[in-house]
Amino acid sequence: MFEYAPAPESRDVVDLKSSYGLFINGEFVDGSGTPFKTVNPATEETLAEVATASSDDVDRAVQAARKAFGVWSALPGAERAKYLFRIARIIQERARELAVLESLDNGKPIRESRDVDVPLVAAHFFYYAGWADKLEYAGFGSAKPLGVAGQVIPWNFPLLMLAWKIAPALACGNTVVLKPAETTPLTALLFADICRQADLPPGVANIVTGAGETGAAVVAHPDVNKVAFTGSTEVGRIIARTVAGTGKKLTLELGGKAANIVFDDAAVDQAVEGIVNGIFFNQGHVCCAGSRLLVQESIQEELLAALKRRLGTLRLGDPLDKNTDIGAINSAEQLAKIRRLSDLGESEGAERWSPACELPGKGFWFPPTLFTGVAQSHSVAREEIFGPVLSVLTFRTPAEAVEKANNTPYGLSAGVWTEKGSRILWMADRLRAGVVWANTFNKFDPASPFGGFKESGFGREGGRHGLEAYLEV
Ligand code: NDP
Repeated sequence: MFEYAPAPESRDVVDLKSSYGLFINGEFVDGSGTPFKTVNPATEETLAEVATASSDDVDRAVQAARKAFGVWSALPGAERAKYLFRIARIIQERARELAVLESLDNGKPIRESRDVDVPLVAAHFFYYAGWADKLEYAGFGSAKPLGVAGQVIPWNFPLLMLAWKIAPALACGNTVVLKPAETTPLTALLFADICRQADLPPGVANIVTGAGETGAAVVAHPDVNKVAFTGSTEVGRIIARTVAGTGKKLTLELGGKAANIVFDDAAVDQAVEGIVNGIFFNQGHVCCAGSRLLVQESIQEELLAALKRRLGTLRLGDPLDKNTDIGAINSAEQLAKIRRLSDLGESEGAERWSPACELPGKGFWFPPTLFTGVAQSHSVAREEIFGPVLSVLTFRTPAEAVEKANNTPYGLSAGVWTEKGSRILWMADRLRAGVVWANTFNKFDPASPFGGFKESGFGREGGRHGLEAYLEV
């Protein structure tokens, strides 16, 4: 293993304030709830104090969005597009600032926030800006917006999930009230500043920070026309119950337990890279993570040896170091959940392995972990761990691979590794998953729709399909 000198990205590019308010009607205002602290999960240092929006604050935000809806929806699509293009360009200009802040607040490596999250955020705004004046040709009929969208997002891709929600909503002429996750509110508030810089009309995009209660107030508000949620299946169920019978349009993007399936004719080194990217990208805090490796029995030994060698080269540590592959776990709660499920895996009889890996003394950390000897009944094969933990299962025939891959209540994504194109198509036809990647994994593009089957939710985000959720159809 090479020795690398530290290569930390400077924090100076971020102007961190000691406290942040809510963004309502184009202004930063105080919240009436008790403020909360957001911490850097890599050091446990408090980064800032953030306002909590009470249900009255949420009501003010919804009223601002309702008022702005009249103006915003009446603008010609080409005019709305100008604002979205402007936002996209400012995101590119301020990319370094956004990437550093995202890594500070979330714990993800700067290599990912800089090279994946932020470029995809800009790409999303560019992409949907392009749709704003072409909605009549999207194939969804009237091209009329719905009104006010209430959007609740999680902590794993704070800025990217914001872009997935806000870009299509605004392109279609809706206005939004968005609640970021409690542990990662800072880039959403920086985005609010970008909206001001872009002269977005007041009230078109509102950001209300707070915990689950604030999210619940957004979802339940009677003047919200559309609810979009990404997060756990458990909260998704609560939201579906709240929204049932209200006439609000709903999309849910929930959990996953994806199979990454490697056949004996796959290029082993490439498959190993894909497996690593599938489960250790973003510390495994990815709803479509390839958390179940299904490997054809005949190559199990060779593949596992190569995978273990590769895991031995992953660098875990300071998220702001450009050499870091694995950053911090987002919160103490999430770390406790990963530990609990991993311990359960061991006690149920699966064999646990991690490379030699020193964990920093402060902050929330978990080493890359493999479980072998996993049976389909084991908790580590069934439950979403949402951490850097891979469960390895084997199969003999393609039919068995399909059966095992589909043996989950979820259905968000899957990966297939083989050199045979016909086998890829045969598998893709049978896998009950919203996205099937072939000889790659975790590839995202704003033009490509994303969403789940079964308990992974419903509705699609991204691409032309993503417009449907924000139009009267
Ligand atoms: P949650 O589903 O609880 O959080 C997602 C968002 O919903 C957050 O903004 C949260 O606020 C908010 N929220 C919580 N309760 C409610 C409610 N009753 N009504 C409306 N909004 C609400 O996920 P967690 O952060 O608690 O993570 C728990 C587990 O969920 C993870 O371990 C992981 O397995 C899974 N998960 C899946 C994700 C995915 O992309 N599919 C993303 C995140 C988590 P707050 O942050 O304050 O809790």
